[in-house]
Amino acid sequence: MGDMTVTTPPRVLTVAGSDSGGGAGIQADLKTMLALGVHGMSVIAAVTAQNSLGVQGYWELPPEAVRAQLDSVLGDIGAQSVKTGMLASPGLVEVVAEALGAYPAPVVVDPVGVSKHGDPLLAPEAVDTVRTRLLPVATVVTPNLWEVEQLTSVKVEDEHGLRRAADAILELGPTWALIKGGHLPGEPVDLLTDGTSEYRFSAPRLDNRHTHGTGCTLASAIAARLALGDDVPTAVGKAKEYVTGAIARGFPLGDGIGPVDHAW
Ligand code: PLP
Repeated sequence: MGDMTVTTPPRVLTVAGSDSGGGAGIQADLKTMLALGVHGMSVIAAVTAQNSLGVQGYWELPPEAVRAQLDSVLGDIGAQSVKTGMLASPGLVEVVAEALGAYPAPVVVDPVGVSKHGDPLLAPEAVDTVRTRLLPVATVVTPNLWEVEQLTSVKVEDEHGLRRAADAILELGPTWALIKGGHLPGEPVDLLTDGTSEYRFSAPRLDNRHTHGTGCTLASAIAARLALGDDVPTAVGKAKEYVTGAIARGFPLGDGIGPVDHAW
């Protein structure tokens, strides 16, 4: 007989949409969690028909199906952290916010609006529910600049605007805001702040267009590191390192944009 000592890894839950192409959404989340040494669990909110060319369609689950999955997972297994991604509709955002607001684990919210191809993943009428119900229960929220504008009407033109964006997001109630400045010209810079401390994370711009799943991967990696015991700034720093490695190895798939790679 070998060593019979078995340990249970920290558990991390993703509440998000399925990407049939395997590059983003639930599939990216679970791959990230495996790579970072936590047990990944998935509450599926919506199913996309998706490939390297874009999102051809999506179907939401009924709110009671999402509620039942949350009850099943959190009631028995439990989670040391939770990540939310594509939640599609106001009813789903509401159910998820209510359940997570009553659950004592950090929540990383990726306020997904549209895909890189420009396909909508959130109904326009759900933006207000994200703003008023979901962001107040977030430990960390990870908007890109397009999502900042959608949520706060603040438009960022250069690196100086990142702080203004973060302050506007913090007013909506999350503990930390991580503003992803990657779409600005020059070296990509992300700003993390809780209103008191401020951290800037920069990385060289990688010349690789196969970046599908980047946002999902970053938010999941933050959640995984939080479950492993990191504080928020440490978790974000380590998650950024993981995503940079995954983007560096992003590979072509189909005729469009390929995924970041988790096998490294
Ligand atoms: N599909 C699903 C289910 C997602 O959750 C997301 C992003 O969060 C995407 C697609 C978009 O991924 P990307 O913008 O990296 O292409």
